[in-house]
Amino acid sequence: MKIILREEVFNPDYVPPSLPHREEQMRQLLAYMRNFIESPGSFYPRVVLVGRQGSGKTVTLRSFGKSLKPPVKFAHVSCFTNRTFTTIIYSLAQQLGIAVPKRGLGRDELVNVFLDQIKEKDIYAIIALDDVFNLTPDIISVFIRMGLETDKMGAHRIGLALVSHTPDFIDALDPSTRGILGKPLVRFPPYTKEQIFDILKQRAEMALARGSYDEEILYMIADITGAEEGQNNRGDARLALDILYRAANGAEEEGLSRITAEHVRRASKEVLVGVSSDVLQGLPLHAKLLLLAIVRALKRGKPYVTFGEVEDMYKILCEEFGQRPRAHSQLWTYLNELKSKGIVETRPNKRGEGLRGRTTLISIGTEPLDALERTISAMAMNELR
Ligand code: ADP
Ligand code: MG
Repeated sequence: MKIILREEVFNPDYVPPSLPHREEQMRQLLAYMRNFIESPGSFYPRVVLVGRQGSGKTVTLRSFGKSLKPPVKFAHVSCFTNRTFTTIIYSLAQQLGIAVPKRGLGRDELVNVFLDQIKEKDIYAIIALDDVFNLTPDIISVFIRMGLETDKMGAHRIGLALVSHTPDFIDALDPSTRGILGKPLVRFPPYTKEQIFDILKQRAEMALARGSYDEEILYMIADITGAEEGQNNRGDARLALDILYRAANGAEEEGLSRITAEHVRRASKEVLVGVSSDVLQGLPLHAKLLLLAIVRALKRGKPYVTFGEVEDMYKILCEEFGQRPRAHSQLWTYLNELKSKGIVETRPNKRGEGLRGRTTLISIGTEPLDALERTISAMAMNELR
């Protein structure tokens, strides 16, 4: 039975025809950009979009970009995948249809060539740098200052939209660049349960077969992912949509025509809902390595592993990551931290469990090991780069 009738609607890059609960953010974004759109060249508009992951920043920006009409063009760069000045400039140039030399130029020269081309081709562009917190302040500064170069461009030809989790990156800029940017903030609060429900409903109606789901299923997902008043570690629409998609897939794979609560449960386990990635990210490097060691040891198949087994695995990992292993007592401290954060469970062994003497058994109850392993090792690798 086909349940997912339109796969592309679940594609992370898909832009739905309307964005429930982001009308106000769209209105603010337009307000900052309106004069530039209506009379291009008149001034230099700047805007900063802030909100946690999955709060709809990128999709709102894309939707705004799609609404722009010539002569104003839109160029959007992910600074997660493009972290250097040159890769960003190349991406912008490519999207705007201008040529810049691939090598041999320094930063300033590259900016000059880029601005010359903008003038020569009579381009007006709104440039969006997404997840800009991945860049160093000096790179961000270059892009903020570029819009002021009206002498080189002959007019105000650039508008700038910066996207970030928090406005902290602004404080890290040098004071004069900060002054140019100002604080034109558009905030994206975490989605509440009701809001997530509406977002799920919109996608389900577009993409899923009629009668393949009850609204109860959507409420269930909204409950797991939506934020309550004042909660900031929840409200991620991406996670919610991911769970719906996986649940639909699971049902389809079993040859069923309906999604059940069990499919949702299984799907939600797959996407790391129990421990938020913020909590994992906040762990010291060697606590991450210890956790990775626990995961690897558990992947051999037993429900529990001993501290000794974990310590052996940890030493191997340290070698892999080129790290000096921390002392036994320090590892105990990290284990307690993992426990108090609810990431692992520990208990003393009992008689008859086939283990000699007294030892501590460690387990992970809620998280799917594969997902956890991927997340942690990516974080550890990132930290060591
Ligand atoms: P962010 O950039 O803030 O991390 P995204 O814009 O990537 O979040 O949104 C995450 C996912 O949720 C995307 O698939 C996006 O299409 C979807 N989404 C977010 N907000 C809405 C909304 N208001 N209506 C419909 N879909 C949304
Ligand atoms: Mg985004």
